[in-house]
Amino acid sequence: MKMSVIRPGLVRLLGLVAAAVLLLSGGAVLTQPNPAMTAHFIDVGQAHATLLEFSCGAMLIDAGTQDDAHETALLGYLDAFFARRTDLNRTLKSILITHNHLDHTRSLQRLVETFTVERYIDNGFTTGSGRFGPNWLRGEVKAGRRKIVVRDIPDTAVEAVADKRGLTDSDIDPLGCPDRDPGVRILEGRFDENPGWPEGEFENQNNHSVITRIDYGTASFLFMGDLEEAAIELLVDYYGDQPGGMLDADVLQVGHHGSQNATTAELLDAVTPRVALIPVGEWTFGQSGGTFTTFAFGHPRQTTVNLLAQHMTRRRTPSKSVRVAEKARQFRNQTVTKAIYATGWDGTVRVVARASNDITVYRER
Ligand SMILES: [Zn+2]
Repeated sequence: MKMSVIRPGLVRLLGLVAAAVLLLSGGAVLTQPNPAMTAHFIDVGQAHATLLEFSCGAMLIDAGTQDDAHETALLGYLDAFFARRTDLNRTLKSILITHNHLDHTRSLQRLVETFTVERYIDNGFTTGSGRFGPNWLRGEVKAGRRKIVVRDIPDTAVEAVADKRGLTDSDIDPLGCPDRDPGVRILEGRFDENPGWPEGEFENQNNHSVITRIDYGTASFLFMGDLEEAAIELLVDYYGDQPGGMLDADVLQVGHHGSQNATTAELLDAVTPRVALIPVGEWTFGQSGGTFTTFAFGHPRQTTVNLLAQHMTRRRTPSKSVRVAEKARQFRNQTVTKAIYATGWDGTVRVVARASNDITVYRER
């Protein structure tokens, strides 16, 4: 009888203690001795948007969304993120757009109207299916309505860097975190002159994707945009495929939504990824019609997923039965055992780099 009287009080007391511990640990996150970088590969459907979170700031690579529902989800994700990271004052240090296609720019204007964006970087094209957002942003800045530093990256600027170390400066790498400072470098930009490709390859804006490398301690991330084979060959020729080279990265954003023409054995020999991320829609998107859809494109391709698996040793646990495309409009089940993740399979995926050789993957489903 006495116990039942005491217990509710004890439970309340324990609850208060637990809340205090949570508050303390929550407060300690910002000043933890073991800082972390998190790449949030946000589920935006057949599109790409990755939020990069650091102790002293955040950046966004691409602002694409499949449709209005995914735009709402993206804005909601960022709202929740900034509600947690109140120290960042709803500010993105930069938005980098890999290239001007709609699935990479669709929500750019909404993001700029909703959050503070300090810098904007792209490949400088004013054409392309996704030109509206970038052109609107440039217009706003030109008219003096918004203060955003705007940069475009020609490949000649990357090639001008000595020792092929990639292009960086205070706009490309605006962060100066006191605990552990990330390094941001652009490895390829827009080609103003045809480097010897067939005309169709040169006119394909995927091949002008801005390629970004992030180093964080000994962890490294490589963002491929939608780069296709012609430009990949050039990239690998330029930087080489030696271990520890500029293309050697732990985490790979797989190019062009896992398409068959955007991941090569030579690239994977150079990257040696531990974790691979495919930004892609759910395979059913477009099953009932539509051209620019996951189903119609056949993303991700089985050949690409298998090629990745052959080049990777780290496993995903548990393994997962997923849908991969044998060709356009034809999918099959496959069990993925290597550390290959896709937003269409896993929802939003967070990749956290904490200390040397410590990379953890959290998936939404
Ligand atoms: Zn794309």
